[in-house]
Order: sequence, then C-alpha cells, then structure tokens
Amino acid sequence: MEQFVTIKTFTYPHEAYVIRGKLESEGIRTFLKDEMTVQVYNFYSNAIGGVKLQVLEEDAEKALNIVNSVEEVPREVVVFSKKELDGTDICPFCHSENIGHSKKPGWLTLIPYLIVGFIFPVYKNSYLCFDCEKQWKIKRSCQNKYS
Ligand SMILES: [Zn+2]
Repeated sequence: MEQFVTIKTFTYPHEAYVIRGKLESEGIRTFLKDEMTVQVYNFYSNAIGGVKLQVLEEDAEKALNIVNSVEEVPREVVVFSKKELDGTDICPFCHSENIGHSKKPGWLTLIPYLIVGFIFPVYKNSYLCFDCEKQWKIKRSCQNKYS
C-alpha cells in the first residue's frame, strides 16, 4: 500500500495550495489531509493540527527540498491596525527607523487574470524593516479584529 507522510502543516487550506501546486507541477502526488474539515470549521484548524500536506513516502525528500526552496520568498507578514502603530514610521518589532515601504502587485493579481483575462492589480501595501527583517502591513480599519 502506498504510504503518505506529512511534510508540512498549514493553518488554512489556501496557504497549502500554493506549495501544493508547485509540488504537483514537479510531478509529485499530494494529498491535503483535513482540508475539508478546516474549510468547513475554520476554527478547528489549530485543534486538529491544521491542514496537513502529505506526499508519498518515496517523494518526501524531494518534496521537502521544493518546499524549503519555495518558502524563502513568502515570509510571515504581521498585520497591524493604524491605531496600534499610532501613526509612527518605525518598526513595531525593534523600533528601528530603518524601514522600507513597498507597494507592489501581489500574486493575487494573477487570479482574476486567469479567470477573466485581464489584471486587476491587488496591491500589497507592506513595510519591511531592514534591521530585524520583519515584514508587516497596516490594515485600514481596525474593526472586528477578533470577532
Ligand atoms: Zn525591526
């Protein structure tokens, strides 16, 4: 029998899709365990250990190499409300003033392009600290933060 092993877990299924697509394009069969459970009951994700990206045991090493190479690009982006940052232009993590602001089209831009054939730019408004290398975004409204 073919044995699937978990190579990575994700909180939400959409986070897994990017890497899954990459693995499948390399010819690796994948399986997302608990994908449906998490989609239906989002808040169960942490309790059941998230969505598990699995591959066949014999592909695990190759898959891990691909996962590691993909992951260097998207890093964790923390979202703050304007209120939390108090309108100051410093890094919320290390308080450095050595920060950069980037406004570039996000990869989400590609989705409408694939569907309707033209691009709606979805701009990612993000900040990067050059000292601690953390990245963050500012949310326009701070309502419903924890609801
Ligand atoms: Zn910093």
